[in-house]
Amino acid sequence: MREFAVARRRMVREQLVAEGLDDQRVLQVMEEVPRHLFVPKLLRHRSHQPSALPIGFGQTISKPFTVGLMTTLLELQGDEHVLEVGTGSGYQGAVLARLAKSVVSVERIKPLAQRSRATLKELGFDNITVLAADGIEGMFDHAPYDAIIVTACAPHLPPVLVSQLKDGGFLLIPVNKGREQILYRYQRQGEEVLVEQSVSCRFVPLLAGVEQTAVANEEELAEDNIQGEHLA
Ligand code: SAH
Repeated sequence: MREFAVARRRMVREQLVAEGLDDQRVLQVMEEVPRHLFVPKLLRHRSHQPSALPIGFGQTISKPFTVGLMTTLLELQGDEHVLEVGTGSGYQGAVLARLAKSVVSVERIKPLAQRSRATLKELGFDNITVLAADGIEGMFDHAPYDAIIVTACAPHLPPVLVSQLKDGGFLLIPVNKGREQILYRYQRQGEEVLVEQSVSCRFVPLLAGVEQTAVANEEELAEDNIQGEHLA
């Protein structure tokens, strides 16, 4: 719909370009991927605002700038095999799938995994696989990866994630540091790990185990609203 295309163009200009993001491929893809279709219907009119939004089950879709920044930091060239931990709405996964060769995305809340899988399929994405699983230890079956992105905040860097990364590959992960969360970009160099870059951020926590039976309803979404505003 035209109205959403206009909103996306504005979102890219005012929230990404204005904040210093300049990777043209990332900007182009974020102008094209229909973000509103990854947001619950009730909140669709707000899908381009500069904040995170609730997607049910106590989780959020990250704000546009966060998705733009994280995607830019991965420096994808188009031939990568990428792991995302924390599918959530599937929006970040969709952006990655447009810029890489293949994406494996893992979500611990089963109904969220099912919903994002359905959305991505409906939109014709055929190079992203959504798995309902705990991704705290990565996803060994599909490793190694050229890049790994974790979209929930970890208490520390899980070492096993680095072991699933190819040499030279980037791992992006928000980690708790006191009361703050810092987004780290690690790069594997042989058996060494370099910390490449870091900024302050705000994500939902990375939790262990799989949730099978979580249920989201409209009231929960409305309540989550206020909380979601403050997250990345
Ligand atoms: N990338 C998402 C943002 C999702 S929020 C988007 O574009 O919408 C982070 C997600 O990580 C939540 O859905 C949460 O359930 C999930 N998550 C938290 N811990 C996890 C784990 N150990 N394994 C897989 N997913 C996890």
